[in-house]
Amino acid sequence: MNRKIIQLARRFERGSLTLVASLALTTLLMNVEFNFLEGRLYDLRMNLGSPPPADPNIVLISIDDKTMKTLDESAPLPLDYHAKFFELLEKYEPKALGYLVDFNQISQANPEHFKSDWIARLQQSASRLESRGTPIHFGTSFDVNGEVLPPVPLRSLPHSIAVIHKDGNVFAEDKVTRRALTYVNGKPTFHLRLAQSLGFMNYGEQPHGSFSVSELDTDYFFFRYHGNTSLRSQMPMAYQRISFVDFLRENFDPKLIQGKILLVGTMLKENSSDFTLTPYSREAFANPKLVVHANILDSVIHDQGISLVPNAFNWLATFITTAIVFWFVFHSMPLYGVFVTLGVAALYAAIAYFSFKAESIWLRASQPLLGVFIGYYLVVPYRLFSENKKRWDYQRKNQLLTQVEELKTNFLNLVTHDLKTPVARIQGLAEVILRNSEIRTEDRHNLNQIVHSTDELNQFITRILELSKVESNPLQIRFESKDVNSLVEKAVSALQTLARQRQVEIQMKLEPLFPIRLDASLISKVLINVIDNAIKYSPSLTAILIETRETSGFVEIGIRDHGIGLSDDEQSNLFTRFYRAKNEANARTAGTGLGLYLTKYFVEAHFGRVEVESERGRGSLFKIFLPIDPPLNPEAGAVPGLARRLAMKKLIYLKSKSLRQSVQAVEVKENNHV
Ligand code: ADP
Repeated sequence: MNRKIIQLARRFERGSLTLVASLALTTLLMNVEFNFLEGRLYDLRMNLGSPPPADPNIVLISIDDKTMKTLDESAPLPLDYHAKFFELLEKYEPKALGYLVDFNQISQANPEHFKSDWIARLQQSASRLESRGTPIHFGTSFDVNGEVLPPVPLRSLPHSIAVIHKDGNVFAEDKVTRRALTYVNGKPTFHLRLAQSLGFMNYGEQPHGSFSVSELDTDYFFFRYHGNTSLRSQMPMAYQRISFVDFLRENFDPKLIQGKILLVGTMLKENSSDFTLTPYSREAFANPKLVVHANILDSVIHDQGISLVPNAFNWLATFITTAIVFWFVFHSMPLYGVFVTLGVAALYAAIAYFSFKAESIWLRASQPLLGVFIGYYLVVPYRLFSENKKRWDYQRKNQLLTQVEELKTNFLNLVTHDLKTPVARIQGLAEVILRNSEIRTEDRHNLNQIVHSTDELNQFITRILELSKVESNPLQIRFESKDVNSLVEKAVSALQTLARQRQVEIQMKLEPLFPIRLDASLISKVLINVIDNAIKYSPSLTAILIETRETSGFVEIGIRDHGIGLSDDEQSNLFTRFYRAKNEANARTAGTGLGLYLTKYFVEAHFGRVEVESERGRGSLFKIFLPIDPPLNPEAGAVPGLARRLAMKKLIYLKSKSLRQSVQAVEVKENNHV
């Protein structure tokens, strides 16, 4: 009961420790934004794997270096070229036109053009296009006063803000373009207006994942990139592009324009305001804003915004991931802890990746991942400290145990030594009195009991002394060449009286054997103990069969009885010190529980083994295996050489021959009798 309560308290302690630690770490992490890291992880998700396909109906017309060079003009491109562009476009029936050119810059550079008829021509052409059902939209910039309107008279044409948002003061602050403006001061921006006029979106509708920043009175959404944006990359650009000059010279396939949404804008190498940074490339002058506009428009048209999950979810995700890591690193093996940490991090990264790619859901990854790794590095020193403490405690306990063990052995030694002499004296005196023939029968019986009990006590003392000898000094084995059969016969004759008393018959079936190298005194003890047990734990009128034989590399001695037998549980404890099975027979029989422990010890010192097969109520079979060729022992002389082996072979041949002869002789005798 007490143990259960302690276990429960321990489990509770572990759980609460994990809970408190992960709560503390989560709270700490959620108070810091790690936006720079989150931005990097966002970009990784954006450009890993294949992006959603770019809309082939969006085509870019770039006022690029080639245009300037061929027309021999310098930026900004004068108004007349734009007017010519509009007039030429009327021939090709595009689906829509988004014009992302700063006319205020053009009017500042060449104000006289705005007084010439070019401006009227441009305006009229634009109106004609519009009246034929081609929506036209001008992109404007934005300053502290709001939208910077196009110069008069272009102001009368549809226009709205087309600013590329660079992440400068919120989120990652790394100037990378990840989100786009959708509404400014309640008015839809360029991409939304174009999509609305094309019928892809209703007025007032927002793309998926839009969110408001009320302080600025603006709405944003995180848009999708549809492939590589960098001019320097080897990968092809996601959108078709025609140079402005090629258009003016009609140097293109008309199919590229007909029915397409055209985005016209500048892309001049020396003009930094024509470029931005994207998740695909952070190089300056690599990612044209015109391409980014195309990606935003594409995301608006196909409603591919990315929605950020609520903060509560991030909180929960961070808490769960850190709690898992805390729990496993606190309580499991170090290697297991490493696997769990890496596994949780990989699993969370995979979930974050697939929900981003497949579901357009942005799970913040920085806090959960940092939680996992910081959690791991916080727990590891704690674990090291507690493991060291545990080891130190174990060492101390071990030292104490060794001391106690030594004291116990000394004590046993002392007691048994001191007991031995008085016991011998009692036995001697009892025997002397017994020799007196005038003694009464009743007294004789009592004296016999005394002798018997002192015998048992003596046996007990001898076992204890043997055990302490074995445990305190290294076992000295004196190898000599001996025939196992002769040792078996000796042991049997020593126990014959006991067997007769118990009415147990001992049968022997001994195969002729090589003499093998063994310590005769130790193996005799082994045999006496096992045969003695067989007699002790057998009912009267049963038989014990002792067999010897040679099996591969070993001499096998089998002692089979038909006694009380042993259960599986008892068998597994049989060779433990002081073990005695709990049964009736045992209660009646004196014993120490040391015999089999010493038996195993002595046999294993000979590089052999003891096996037992037994069944409750049916009897037991103990098998002792002694190696024919035990490894060399320095005290025992050399391992048998070749000549000796040959001599042995001859001996066994002679032995088996003599056995055959004697068997024949017996048969002849028996036949004669018949
Ligand atoms: P003990 O002095 O009690 O005989 P052992 O170490 O020789 O000590 O044996 C340990 C226990 O194993 C015994 O108490 C007995 O319960 C069981 N045991 C040993 N030999 C036999 C056997 N032949 N049959 C049944 N039980 C046995």
